[in-house]
Amino acid sequence: MALRFASLGSGSKGNGTLVASGDHCLLVDCGFTIKETERRMARLGLSPSDLSAILVTHEHSDHLSGVAPLARKYGVPVYMTPGTLRARDIGKLPRLHLIEGHQPFSVADIHVTPVAVPHDAREAAQFVFRSRGSSLGLLTDLGTVTPHVEEFFGDCDALLLEANHDPQMLAQGPYPPSLKRRVGGAYGHLSNQQAAGFLQRVGCDQLQHLVVAHISEKNNSVALAREALADAAERVANCIFACQQQGFDWLQIDKRDC
Ligand SMILES: [Zn+2]
Ligand SMILES: [Zn+2]
Repeated sequence: MALRFASLGSGSKGNGTLVASGDHCLLVDCGFTIKETERRMARLGLSPSDLSAILVTHEHSDHLSGVAPLARKYGVPVYMTPGTLRARDIGKLPRLHLIEGHQPFSVADIHVTPVAVPHDAREAAQFVFRSRGSSLGLLTDLGTVTPHVEEFFGDCDALLLEANHDPQMLAQGPYPPSLKRRVGGAYGHLSNQQAAGFLQRVGCDQLQHLVVAHISEKNNSVALAREALADAAERVANCIFACQQQGFDWLQIDKRDC
């Protein structure tokens, strides 16, 4: 079976994305309890015992809180950067693999390229996956789209992209000033307009799926994200908006014709 992906949920209350190819399945981040992860995975036809590995993007609890308990219960290998490991005391992991900087690695036949992103975490990495002739980029939790990020994520066949906040809603919203500055700053999160600008610069005609993700429930709305990304949404074959509760169902990425 081709490269495919699905989400357990997306947003500041917990993230988890499944990436599968053939018989192998990876979980990228886990911000849910064991019970909740089992429930959400069952919704997608899987159990944590089906996982080949868990990959961690960074130490914020919406991405990390469920990783160690799940890895311990099911004996799943975990991949993360040394900085992410040092940032929190998560106890012993049964099978830990440290990701070396920008060094690509493989889990079964899924090739993974970690990409450093500007975010207020110790050593954050986002990931590009390649398998069976197609590619997928998962890109959330970054304050700025750097040329480095554009180089790696600009040519994917499918993309999950953060559109975290609407700047006006963030400014007028309930967060204290310091948190507003953090979220809207260069090491915070992408706004709807930054996400749209990135897609405009790299072009998105080749995208089979665009998933707009990590949408803030306090500082954004799907309607505002949809409006800001309308041009891109029109040009991609399939554009969906991931939500906190439901995530999204399996999306298959077909081999690119070249
Ligand atoms: Zn996050
Ligand atoms: Zn974060």
